[in-house]
Amino acid sequence: MPRVLRGHVRVTGGIAGKRNSKAHVDIVETTIDSTLHKITTTMNPAKPSPDQVILASAPWPLFNYPSIQLGTLKAYLKKHLPDVTVAAHHLYLKVAAAVGYEVYREISKRSWLAESIYASLLYPQQMQSIQRVFNAETRSSPLLQTIGLENLSRRVEQASHACLAEIDWQKAVLLGFSVCLCQFTSSIFFLQRIKQRIPSIPIVIGGSNFTAQSAGQMLTVFPQVDFIIVGEGELPLTELVQHHREKPRPPEKIPSIDGVVSRQTTTDSTLTACRQVQDLSALPIPDFDDYFKLLKRLGSNGTFFPTLPFEISRGCWWKQSRGSDNPSGCAFCNLNVQWQGYRSKHPQQVAAQVDQLSSRHKTFSVAFTDNVLPTQTSTKIFTDLSKIPKDLRLFAEIRAATSRERLQIMRAAGIEELQVGIEALSTRLLAKMNKGTTAIQNLQTMKYCEELGIRSNSNLILCFPGSDEADVQETLRVLQFALCFRPLKAVQFWLGLGSPVWLSPGAFGISARFNHPNYRALLPAEMVGAVDFMIQGYRGNLNHQKKIWKPVQKQLKTWKAIYAGLHKDPGAGPALSFRTAPEFMIITQRQHQSPALAHRLEGRSREIYLYCAAHRSLGQIRRHFPSLGEERLLKFLQMMVDKRLMFAENGRYLSLACAVHPGNLSGN
Ligand code: SF4
Repeated sequence: MPRVLRGHVRVTGGIAGKRNSKAHVDIVETTIDSTLHKITTTMNPAKPSPDQVILASAPWPLFNYPSIQLGTLKAYLKKHLPDVTVAAHHLYLKVAAAVGYEVYREISKRSWLAESIYASLLYPQQMQSIQRVFNAETRSSPLLQTIGLENLSRRVEQASHACLAEIDWQKAVLLGFSVCLCQFTSSIFFLQRIKQRIPSIPIVIGGSNFTAQSAGQMLTVFPQVDFIIVGEGELPLTELVQHHREKPRPPEKIPSIDGVVSRQTTTDSTLTACRQVQDLSALPIPDFDDYFKLLKRLGSNGTFFPTLPFEISRGCWWKQSRGSDNPSGCAFCNLNVQWQGYRSKHPQQVAAQVDQLSSRHKTFSVAFTDNVLPTQTSTKIFTDLSKIPKDLRLFAEIRAATSRERLQIMRAAGIEELQVGIEALSTRLLAKMNKGTTAIQNLQTMKYCEELGIRSNSNLILCFPGSDEADVQETLRVLQFALCFRPLKAVQFWLGLGSPVWLSPGAFGISARFNHPNYRALLPAEMVGAVDFMIQGYRGNLNHQKKIWKPVQKQLKTWKAIYAGLHKDPGAGPALSFRTAPEFMIITQRQHQSPALAHRLEGRSREIYLYCAAHRSLGQIRRHFPSLGEERLLKFLQMMVDKRLMFAENGRYLSLACAVHPGNLSGN
């Protein structure tokens, strides 16, 4: 699936604690130092209770989603250690409510911007370079520009202090933070302050920010962290909690646990091998109660209808485990570096759990967090979901090679929005990316989404290393046929640690790779020098790439404007559509700043057009219409391509118009 820096949810680290609302009222206005002092004195001489675990998630995940990481881990711990109390603290929701949802949303949209806020609080000596990052990242946000970094940071700091004050961290036998993209500096901020005042509290972190290699490095620069979980959190965290419950003891006395890196272990693969839940169906239903309780406490001014995250599967079946010498999967993707293999829940379980969660939390919106949906069972899953007597609003990510029939079932189940793994509109570039798809497949899926009323929020990657003029020319050509569909979003390629491009830089024209320069702007040099971060910078033909991709970037802007113009009237329907009867059909082609065109097709012409609703090879068309001479057939097809009513690629043809009544067409 397309990957932008805004995070993917992942199940790893996380932990929580008990809230003292009275203390909150008393302490909220105080400074951090006095607050923590007050906690220490108020709570003393409370001894750590052996059965309390605190899980927490710092800003900047999307505030309107409970954390799938915390919800899954909490449910797992409750099931396997029923006498342990687990509290899941969504610190990010508290901060969002305090700084205002609109401001928070603007910040959380961009990774570097998000990291710059807490960086300015942690490393004020680097304010100049942090300010530069902030300025660059807020270019398109007048709201944040007006508030300014200093003001924003102050507001965020106050909100964070309030969070710190209202949680009784001291009671935790173990504190865990889930740290994914955008949560690096915010997590350091919270952890530093907690550890400063409660040095004995054992801290574990985990999340998509950590690989086996970087986990060991992180420990060298974060004295406040005792353990890092690599990969999935359930099994290692449960074991870690058990050890801490048995007998409170310092971290160095905890025996080594597979999947956990500590100062006493090495990063040896036997210690850091992924420990995964083999059967996802054995996982309990995620527990989001803490998030919803917090939301209720925020009162009517802070209320909104959240989206429930739900995972059907983990890993990616497109990325087969062939070892790092022969990396597979999409060349730009590092989403699965912590996972081995692909696992999914039993289809029967999915609809039942979604139904249960939706009823419990009285919300219809559900976002599937899967990197890629299961191929074998998706049809059954969405058929079952469509039988739930609720008007669900669903979101998922799919690969572009998804059939119309399946999309139709997904739509009936409530899919309103999809992120389709488009990434490129050039077949030769898609091959370099190892997407396993072609431009004609991408156009076909974009058409299906348009036709079925599914909003496709998908990306086009610019400046992919190793792309060339021919890729750009092909992209520009195909773009002309895509203008009638919802525009793709331009995303600059970024180099992910552990991705196939990162593993074989030379094959993609990359001569050197290193931590992204923004880390150096935001963090102290010694930290950047010691850790391999997930977002990498590189030397290669970047300037050349930027130059050759400029026309595409420009064209994407035009596309957006054209599409908006053609859809000013919300009931207008697809820009290229058809109505059909048994003897004839009329294709309507609405045009930018020109009158709409209407094309009538009759007899065989109509039949061929309908036959190519899914892309067909010339051979297939000829076999289907044996009485037509090849010359006549090719002439007709070429005419349709010239009018941009069909798209042709490598001897395959796709009709581009969307059915006005898609329900009348059979799936393909
Ligand atoms: S490798 Fe898998 S998860 Fe990554 S972008 Fe490709 S399909 Fe999606």
